[in-house]
Amino acid sequence: MNTLPWLHPDRVASLEAALHERILVLDGAMGTMIQQHALQEADYRGERFAHGYDALFAAEGHAHAPGCGCASHDQRGNNDLLTLTRPDIILGIHDAYLAAGADLVETNTFNSTSVSLADYHLEHLVRELNREGARLARAACDAAEHVDPSWPRFVIGVLGPTSRTASLSPDVHRPGFRAITFDQLADAYREAARGLVEGGADVLMVETIFDTLNAKAALFAIDDVFAEVGGRLPVMISGTITDASGRTLSGQTAEAFWYSLRHARPLAIGLNCALGAKDLRAHLDVLAQVADTHVSTHPNAGLPNAFGGYDETPEDMAGTLGEFARAGMLNLVGGCCGTTPAHIAAIAEAVRGLRPRAVPALDVAA
Ligand SMILES: [Zn+2]
Ligand SMILES: [Zn+2]
Repeated sequence: MNTLPWLHPDRVASLEAALHERILVLDGAMGTMIQQHALQEADYRGERFAHGYDALFAAEGHAHAPGCGCASHDQRGNNDLLTLTRPDIILGIHDAYLAAGADLVETNTFNSTSVSLADYHLEHLVRELNREGARLARAACDAAEHVDPSWPRFVIGVLGPTSRTASLSPDVHRPGFRAITFDQLADAYREAARGLVEGGADVLMVETIFDTLNAKAALFAIDDVFAEVGGRLPVMISGTITDASGRTLSGQTAEAFWYSLRHARPLAIGLNCALGAKDLRAHLDVLAQVADTHVSTHPNAGLPNAFGGYDETPEDMAGTLGEFARAGMLNLVGGCCGTTPAHIAAIAEAVRGLRPRAVPALDVAA
């Protein structure tokens, strides 16, 4: 689909110019910031879902009544739903990251696929959550650009990994079993990507990839959606190293991960989540050497502690990521789980004025 025109050519030109000029800063964690609001079930539901169902939607031929079972599932923890029920909180988080110096903010859509929303019996919200998630991020970016028109800000439409793996069995006794197929994943991603494009995302990012086959399904679906709308957006890809051996859950090294996805010609390839910045260094170094595109990272604030929290301070993270930048490994940098606007402000400060990694023109067979 690389022959389709850009959907927003002026935005792409402005993003490419910024990437050429400096190391761009991504935002930090959404979940960590939402947690600080200590929201209860009623907050998650808002008025629309207060009666145990979606007041704006009913399946064909079904009339809601108290206890009818629609959306009666506990919604607490369904952070993506807050895009509809507490948009003020999500907008506030985007604003805080932009104020901290983020060039790009990620939509609150990590779990907005039918696969993940099925856990909450809200599969019918996929398109709406992605569209509104992109619109909220767009509104925050537009407001920041209004304050300083010389500083472009970009919306990254996020496609999360889902909780299912297409290439591995969740059952050790049935190695051939799959909880989801490539086609089911592609269907789910198509629906999500349509909403993100509709809501005005500048870039799409397939992130926190632990199974490369899931990512391939997402990229396949994205291409279908670009064909449907007759134009494309730049795509970023970010994988997750899940253990000390330095491999993804589906067993690939960073180098193998790049070569399996290079055909998608992404705007950036990177690593996020799971580990802290220090543990990602060797793997990022490999990507920086082999990838003929931009390299990104948004690590966690260290490994989770005994309480599931994250201990690396803004100064710790900024120190490590500043070193990566000075070593010429980075084009984009931000934070994942446990990071806050204070982390992003420190990281932005640490990479300010440093030269972005030069994207190599590699002489390799495509
Ligand atoms: Zn109902
Ligand atoms: Zn994370």
